Amino acid sequence: MIRIAHWIGGAERAGVSGRVGPVFNPATGEQTAEVDLASADEVDQAVRGAKEAAKAWRSASLSRRAAVLFKFRELLAARSGELAAVITSEHGKVLSDAAGEVARGLENAEFATGVPHLMKGSYSEQAATGVDVYSIRQPLGVVAGITPFNFPAMVPLWMCTTAIAAGNAFVLKPSEKDPSAALFLARLWREAGLPEGVFTVVNGDAATVDAILTHPDIAAVSFVGSTPVAKHIYETGTANGKRVQALGGAKNHMVVLPDAELDAAADAAVSAAYGSAGERCMAVSVVVAVGDVADPLVEAIAARLPKLKVGPGTDPESQMGPLISAQHRDRVAGYIEKTGATVVADGREADVPGDGYFLGVTLLDNVTPEMDVYTDEIFGPVLGVVRVATYAEALELINENEYGNGTAIFTRDGGAARRFQFDVNVGMVGVNVPIPVPVAYYSFGGWKASLFGDTHMYGPDGIHFFTRAKVVTSRWPDPGTSTVDLGFPTTR
Ligand code: NAD
Repeated sequence: MIRIAHWIGGAERAGVSGRVGPVFNPATGEQTAEVDLASADEVDQAVRGAKEAAKAWRSASLSRRAAVLFKFRELLAARSGELAAVITSEHGKVLSDAAGEVARGLENAEFATGVPHLMKGSYSEQAATGVDVYSIRQPLGVVAGITPFNFPAMVPLWMCTTAIAAGNAFVLKPSEKDPSAALFLARLWREAGLPEGVFTVVNGDAATVDAILTHPDIAAVSFVGSTPVAKHIYETGTANGKRVQALGGAKNHMVVLPDAELDAAADAAVSAAYGSAGERCMAVSVVVAVGDVADPLVEAIAARLPKLKVGPGTDPESQMGPLISAQHRDRVAGYIEKTGATVVADGREADVPGDGYFLGVTLLDNVTPEMDVYTDEIFGPVLGVVRVATYAEALELINENEYGNGTAIFTRDGGAARRFQFDVNVGMVGVNVPIPVPVAYYSFGGWKASLFGDTHMYGPDGIHFFTRAKVVTSRWPDPGTSTVDLGFPTTR
């Protein structure tokens, strides 16, 4: 049995807590590895090393940091196929989807190569007579990232590229369900010339996370995961004096107006609902059909489903892999069992291979807002259709929903799309784009219960989150002109 260790001091370090967790191949149901789960003592040792490393790394010149980022980006691009295979073996998503995740993470490394520009401050000459004022941004020291199972490479890359470029030491606690991608990234950082201790991996579970949240030498915590855990992370982290951004779950609505291009909307709904078996925080889980588009739209979506190929992620024919665990598959199937909606396609009836955690695709029509399948984040290949009469009803539905991660509108009417963008209480909006994940030079973040904290992730907000501002007011007086003055400094 493979043993997955921590990464501390620039090398693998076997755990000593005596606690381990199982790692499975979701396509076969076999346990493939055991992962070490760090104790509070092990977290403390890792953080001590990171603290030393952070002192030296913040002094590294901007061009040296950029050079490491360029090299890391090059290595990641060259080895993306290998990393995708690692992701598929523990997560289950199809290889092309895993490669897509790596490609999006790579864009964050590309953004971070621009760190000399990103860390520029501002300068005001002659703010008062003979006085200049300027601002600089400095790293925080040791910062931590806690990440979910569904993007084992991309979400760590959202965080670590920006945090490290800004001059921090980064401690990652990846999901214990698919931890190997984190160690793959650690090896690439080492090969790229990153000094030891600047990137650390502590594997673990909730107990490990609590040791991170209460550790006095960790200045900030960046989290992505489910809403109840995000709330816990935000509350505990801030109560312990840390800066925290905690991204939570989602229920993403795709509004289809009567004038939408029907085939494009149906293709988009199917792709965005069932890609990665619906285990994406930006997956479309609700289609809101406005007016008389509902019947033809449901028909068009349903017509596409029998052609979808569910199978192991390593099979190039597969379009959708298994779910992450047997327990999660059964939970998702439970929603279909108890729904009061019209079951147009039932994923439980799909012909799925072997003992893997497969579930076919499910389409539910006539979903109403009080049903569990509407209120809960199911996080599986289940798409619900809510029928409404007007645009105003569609908007109200979305704005009253607990979550506000992503949403999309499908229409040919630019004015309607613009109004939607203006009105909707959601952080990321697509216009005829079903999964509007912002490119790396914008920032990613939802509203409402999809994000606790005030700063979005990666891009300009990422730099902001992982640095703090300092403002310097300086005077270099002409010799012989200084005087004693007890008054409050003014700008005259
Ligand atoms: P999760 O909340 O179960 O776990 C996330 C991380 O928190 C893991 O590292 C896990 O070990 C840790 N954790 C779990 N329970 C904990 C607890 N009680 N105390 C402290 N730490 C704990 O999430 P998941 O199942 O791995 O991922 C799926 C969830 O993540 C979905 O809700 C999805 O919407 C969300 N997600 C959100 C975004 C976003 O950008 N908003 C992106 C990806 C995933």
